[in-house]
Amino acid sequence: MENSRVVVVDQLMDNYAYLVIDERSGVAGVVDVAEADRVLHAAEREGVRIVAILSTHCHFDHVGGNDELLAALPPGSVQVFGHRADAERIPGITRPLEDGEDFALGAMHGRAIFIPAHTRGHLAYYFAEAGAVFTGDTLFAGGCGRIFEGDAAQMMSSLGRLAGLPDPTLVYCGHEYTRRNLEFAAMLEPSNPALAQRRREVDMLLEQGGRTVPTTVALEKATNPFLRTQSPELRASVREQIPDVGDDAVSVLAATRLLKDNF
Ligand code: ZN
Ligand code: FE
Repeated sequence: MENSRVVVVDQLMDNYAYLVIDERSGVAGVVDVAEADRVLHAAEREGVRIVAILSTHCHFDHVGGNDELLAALPPGSVQVFGHRADAERIPGITRPLEDGEDFALGAMHGRAIFIPAHTRGHLAYYFAEAGAVFTGDTLFAGGCGRIFEGDAAQMMSSLGRLAGLPDPTLVYCGHEYTRRNLEFAAMLEPSNPALAQRRREVDMLLEQGGRTVPTTVALEKATNPFLRTQSPELRASVREQIPDVGDDAVSVLAATRLLKDNF
């Protein structure tokens, strides 16, 4: 991470925007803008110039500030990334991306990872050199997003692609939902020691006014129920509440998501 740094910017009630800063050039991309003024203040405070908006998906709490941010910056100086399938719903988009497309941010290289299911055009932004991924409303710390425009099989494969990144990869997600997510996780896996420890750490962090981002791929694999459809304890808990759940991972994920929707 020596050539780059990530600055978290609080947005709305529990959203996060992120400045991804290339230290070598002093430029930054901002992942998901709901409130332009707070993002602009953060950029000013950090002494960086915003040259890109990296929209993960089209929901208002992630792109609602695009137009205002663009209006506040020199015309033509900011690229706006998003997935092609969400393009008509991402304000100001200049660069519709496909899965696997590379892009430059200053001297940094980013890659778009297509992870549909929350919306049909959801993207993650992965910076291999920095070891960081921005997952929007697909992979949360301790949970996953609701399936609005896809199905459980799609969510499974989208989550699988993120879980397949290197273990130490830092995961920056779109919302501070972690405490409630882990409460749900603990209901399904009460004997998971990594989960119990994480809950204690998260409670302490939040009590001190901290944030629970970033997390890591390794920690998510150890504690996030949506990445743990193979766990016998999780399966037994799910089956207790939804007796006719199928044996395959997608059915377990679908049932887990349903339980979370009603939690
Ligand atoms: Zn969303
Ligand atoms: Fe959201």
